[in-house]
Amino acid sequence: MSFIVKEKLIISMLVIVSIFLSLSYLIVNISDPTDNGLVSNEKLNIEQSFIIDKTKSLTVSQAYRSAMQLTTQEHIPWSFADQVYWLKIALQNNTKHPYQLMIHFDNPMVDNLTVYEFENAQLYKQEKLGWQETRLDLIERTILQYPLNIKPKHMSELLIKIETTGIAKTPVIIYQDHDFVQLIRSSHLIWGALIGILCMIALYNLVLFYSIKDRVYLIYIGYLISILALLSVIQGFGHYLFPHPLFKILRVNVISLNFLTLAFALLFTMFFLNFNINKEKIYKTCLYYSYLLFCLAALVTFIPESNSAPIFFVAMGGAYFLCFWLLYIRYNTSHFWSTLYFASWLPLLVGGAIQPLELTGVIPYSFLVRNLFTLCIIFEITLMAMALAERIRYQKELTIFNATHDLETNLPNFQALEAYLLDLLNTEKKFTLCLINISGLNRLSPYFNDSQTQSTLDLFIQNAKQYTNHCPNFARLNNLQNDFAKKDAKIARVRENVFAIIIKHKQNHQQVIEKLEPLYNSINDVFNINKINSYFKINISYYIVKEDHNKVSNILKKAFQALETGTRDDIAINGYENHKHNSLTLVEELKTALLNNELMLFHQPQITLENGQVHGSEGLLRWNHKQHGFIPIEGLISLAEDTGLINQISLWVITQACKDIRTLINLGYENHEVSVNISGLDIVNKEFLNDLKEILTTYPIPKHRLNLELTESVMINDYTYLQSVMQGLAQLGIRVSIDDYGTGYSSLAHISQLPFNELKIDKIFIQNIAKSDRNQKIVQTTINMAKILNLRIVAEGIETLEEEQVLHDFNCDFVQGYRYAKPQPMSDYIQWLSEYHH
Ligand code: C2E
Ligand code: CA
Ligand code: CA
Repeated sequence: MSFIVKEKLIISMLVIVSIFLSLSYLIVNISDPTDNGLVSNEKLNIEQSFIIDKTKSLTVSQAYRSAMQLTTQEHIPWSFADQVYWLKIALQNNTKHPYQLMIHFDNPMVDNLTVYEFENAQLYKQEKLGWQETRLDLIERTILQYPLNIKPKHMSELLIKIETTGIAKTPVIIYQDHDFVQLIRSSHLIWGALIGILCMIALYNLVLFYSIKDRVYLIYIGYLISILALLSVIQGFGHYLFPHPLFKILRVNVISLNFLTLAFALLFTMFFLNFNINKEKIYKTCLYYSYLLFCLAALVTFIPESNSAPIFFVAMGGAYFLCFWLLYIRYNTSHFWSTLYFASWLPLLVGGAIQPLELTGVIPYSFLVRNLFTLCIIFEITLMAMALAERIRYQKELTIFNATHDLETNLPNFQALEAYLLDLLNTEKKFTLCLINISGLNRLSPYFNDSQTQSTLDLFIQNAKQYTNHCPNFARLNNLQNDFAKKDAKIARVRENVFAIIIKHKQNHQQVIEKLEPLYNSINDVFNINKINSYFKINISYYIVKEDHNKVSNILKKAFQALETGTRDDIAINGYENHKHNSLTLVEELKTALLNNELMLFHQPQITLENGQVHGSEGLLRWNHKQHGFIPIEGLISLAEDTGLINQISLWVITQACKDIRTLINLGYENHEVSVNISGLDIVNKEFLNDLKEILTTYPIPKHRLNLELTESVMINDYTYLQSVMQGLAQLGIRVSIDDYGTGYSSLAHISQLPFNELKIDKIFIQNIAKSDRNQKIVQTTINMAKILNLRIVAEGIETLEEEQVLHDFNCDFVQGYRYAKPQPMSDYIQWLSEYHH
C-alpha cells in the first residue's frame, strides 16, 4: 500500500472512530434513557417474577397464581422456542403521593403482548399491545408501552403475557412518566438520522447513476432500501415509513429482507470492486450465489421463521466468505477507495457481533447496545458512500492521467506538454522550450533487445530528473491536481525518443546554454560510465519564446526544427535562433534562387507493396546554395512561411512536378504519380485554386497524376474554408493526402468528413516498428481505420526489410523510404527507374 493511501486511510479512520466513540459516549453518559429506569427502593418497591409455559396452556388466573409463588429472579432464560412467557411485576407505593409510571417493553419484534393489571388480586384491566393494534397511535405501536398509575400507599400488580415466534427477549423498564419522554426522543433521533441519511444517500446515488450510468449505484440503492426495510422491522419504526398493510407484509417476511440485504451486499461488493469488468472466475460464482440469495428471499416467504432463520445463517456464512474473498483479492492491489470499502465492513461486523451477545445476555442490556446495530449501519453506509465518491474521483483521475502521460515512463506526454504550454502562454509569456533527442536507439535496435533499450531510457530519465529537480529554473510540467501525477515531473516524453523540459522566465542564449550544458554533460557522463556512449547520441534544442508568440503549435514546430537540424548537423545544443541568424540574407538569396531557377525538385519513389512496382514518387524541394551547399529543407520551409515566400515556392514546386510528370509520361511511365508537399498557408491563400488551374492549363497532365500532401496540423483551422478548397481540388481531379498522420492533433471524425484520398503515416511511427509494440499498434489501427474510410495508405521512412515485412502484414498499400531509394535529382531518378527491378 502506498504511503499516501495509508496516511489518508489512517486519518479518515481516526475521524470516523472518534465520531463514533463520542456519539456512543453521548448516548451512554448523557442521554441513555435506560438510566432513568426505576429500580426497587424504599419509596417504590418492585418485585418481579416469571414463569415459562412450554405447553402454552396456562390461563391468566393460573399464571397469576403460579407466578405469585415464584421467587424473584433477574435473568429470564429467553430463547427462540415456541412458548409463552409470563412476567409478573408487583409495585408497592410506600409514599403519600401517587406514582405516574410508564412501563416500556423493549422488543418491537414481539408478536403478542398482553398486559393484565391486578388490584387486590382481582383482574382490573387488560390491554393488548404491539404493532398490530391499529387503535394505538404511531408512537405506541412503535415503542411498546403501558401507563400505570399507583395510588399512595397502594400496590399494583402487572401480569404480562409474551408470545412470539421470533426474538423473545423483552426487557421491561419502568419509567417515571416524564423520564419516558427522553427515551422517545433518543429513539426518534436515531431513527430520524438513519432514515434521513439513507434516503439522502439513495437519492444522491440515483443522480450519480443517471450521470455516470454505472450499475453499481443502482445496486447500492437496492442495498440501502433493503437495509432500511430490514431495520424498520427490527427497530419497529416501519409505521413511520410504510402503510400498515405493507409493513405487515415486511414484518412477516423479515428473513426475506435479510436475504435481500445479503444479496445486494454481495452484488455491490462485486460491482464496486470492478469484478464485472474482466469477468474473472470468481465473478460468476458470486453472481450465481447472489441469484441464489434472491431466489431464497422469495422462497422463505412460504416457510415459518423458525425454520428459515437457520437457512439464512448458513447462506450468510457463504456470502460473507465470498465478500471477504473479493476484498482480499482487491486488497493486494489496494486503492484508497477499496480500502475505504473494506473499512466500511468493520462497523457492520462490530454491530453484527454485539447484537447476539446482548440477546444471549453476555453483554448487559442498555439503550446503546440495543441501538448499536443501527448506529453501525449509519457508519457503514456513510463509509460506503465515501468509498463510492472516492472511487469516482480515482477513476476520473486515472483517465486524465492516462490521457496526459506516457504509460511506459509515467512522464507527461505530448498532450500534457501542449496543455502546459498553452497555460504558460497565458501566464508567463516568456520561457524557453527545450527538446532532448536520443538518437541511435532505433539504429541499434536489431542488436539491442527491448529491455536494454528500456534501461538506457531509464538511465537517461533518471539522470535528467536528478539534474532538473535540483535546478529551480526548470518548470514543473504538472499543473493538474492528480493523485497519480508526480509533483516533481519536470520532463515530458513527447515522442518515442524525444523529451521536453521548460526553462522559466526570460533568458538569453547564453543563459539557456549555461543551464543546458551541465545537463548535456551529465547525461553524456552517465552514458560514458555505462560504456554505451558510442551507441547513443544526445542532441538538445531550444527555442526561446518571446511575448509576441502566441501559438503552441508554432513553438513546438520551431523547437522540433532546431532539434532536427541539430541532430543532422551534429550540434550538441542547438537554439532555433541560431540558424536564423543570417535569415534575412538567406531570404533575399532564396528570392533570387527562385527567380533564377536554382531550386530543384528531388524524387523519392513510392512502391506498391503487393507487387513491388513503382507507383509514383514524392517530390521534395532542394536548394543547393552556392556557398553553404544544400540548405536543411525544413528550416527553409518555415523561413519561407514566416516571410510569405511559401506560396511562390509551392507554385514553383507544383509547376516542376507537372513538368516532371510530362517527362515521365514521355518516357513511358504513363501511370506514374507525383506527390508534392504544400503548406497550410497555401490552403488559406485565396488565389491558390486559381493559380493551380492556371498551371494545369499551361502544363496539362492526365487526371490523378498529381497528388498534394497536406500536413494534418493544417486541418484544425477554418474547417468550412478547408472543405471548399478541398472540393475545388477534387473537381480539378487532384488527389489530396493527409501527411504526417499521427503527429498532429486532428481527430479522425474531423478528417473523415473531408474528401481525402490518401493517408501518409509519418516516419516516426515506422522507425523501430519491428521492435516496438506501441508503434505497431498505432500503425495497425491507423491502417485499419483508413481502410474503413476508403483511403489509400502510404508509409514513409522504411529502411529495413523487417519494417517492410511488418507493413506488408498490416496490409499497407504503398511504401517509401531509404530502403528503396533516397530522394534524388530528376535525372538520377530516371536512371534509377530504368534500372529498378523488383
Ligand atoms: P515529409 O513530407 O515528411 O517528407 C519526408 C521526409 O522524410 C523527407 O525529408 C525524406 O527525405 C525523408 N525520408 C524519406 N525516407 C526516409 C527514410 O527511410 N529514413 C529517413 N530517416 N528519412 C526518410 P526532407 O526531404 O528533408 O523533407 C523534410 C520535410 O520538409 C518534409 O517532410 C516536408 O514536410 C518538408 N518539405 C520538403 N519538400 C517540401 C516542399 O516542396 N514544399 C513544402 N511545403 N514542404 C516540403
Ligand atoms: Ca510529405
Ligand atoms: Ca513525414
